[in-house]
Amino acid sequence: MATARTATVVETRDFGAETRVLSLVVDAPLGFVGGQYVIVDSGVILPGGKAAKRAYSILSADADQHRFDLAVMRIPSGPCSGFLHHLAPGDAITFSGPWGKFHPAPDAQGRTLVVATDTGITAALGLLQGARLRPLLGQTAVRWLRMHADYFLPEAFVRARLPAGCDFAIEPIPAIGHPERVPHARVVLRQLLASRAPAQAFIAGDGAINYALLDDLVTAGVPANRDSVDSFFNMPKKSA
Ligand SMILES: Cc1cc2nc3c(=O)[nH]c(=O)nc-3n(C[C@H](O)[C@H](O)[C@H](O)COP(=O)(O)OP(=O)(O)OC[C@H]3O[C@@H](n4cnc5c(N)ncnc54)[C@H](O)[C@@H]3O)c2cc1C
Repeated sequence: MATARTATVVETRDFGAETRVLSLVVDAPLGFVGGQYVIVDSGVILPGGKAAKRAYSILSADADQHRFDLAVMRIPSGPCSGFLHHLAPGDAITFSGPWGKFHPAPDAQGRTLVVATDTGITAALGLLQGARLRPLLGQTAVRWLRMHADYFLPEAFVRARLPAGCDFAIEPIPAIGHPERVPHARVVLRQLLASRAPAQAFIAGDGAINYALLDDLVTAGVPANRDSVDSFFNMPKKSA
């Protein structure tokens, strides 16, 4: 069973009504690798009797294991995002983790692709600022597919955290559920694959896009599997 840990909020920053960045501190080192996430226990009990616990990717660099940042999009009537949007400095949260395999192997080499859609930019930022990706940055291409300029984190916030050396661009994408959304993401990936074949790829955000792109990567011969994918919503059914 996962051990429950506590962290204390030391700072909050809001971007519009929907986005909140929380900085938290822990007494003992978190022990995370860039790209991993924590599971926050909101303390809310859902109508079925289950506790509302949700995953949030750590968007800060793994060089600091005592203070870490989460960015949370407020989902209408969402219990956990609502809970996190109400916290203030001094409040404590209970969480478990770090969890996840969204990071390169310690000895990874070669060209690296990172495609983030929507809120998936948090996992991409954690990954890109991580020690494991540092030697690969000069050969790393990053694309953030987002619906409009006011969506989630501002571009300036994201660029300020991007380590130097990687090739970063933002691409517009149709709304969640739009029939052209997945085809659009596939075109972005095809353009990235058209130059040099990557040695690894990471895709975070909309699950409907993630698994379409994973198929395309595998077809193109790129070594990618479920660990290369972090789905925040639109999760594929377990049997798929
Ligand atoms: C590995 C992982 C990492 C994650 N990291 C982050 C993160 O860094 N920041 C963040 O804001 N969220 C992140 N999420 C999503 C988060 O776990 C919750 O799903 C989200 O906060 C909604 O929880 P809720 O309890 O407020 O609402 P719920 O009632 O659980 O959610 C309502 C619905 O909203 C969907 N949803 C969740 N996110 C979105 C979105 N961006 N756009 C549209 N629909 C969405 C959910 O899938 C669900 O169907 C991550 C999810 C996973 C699995």
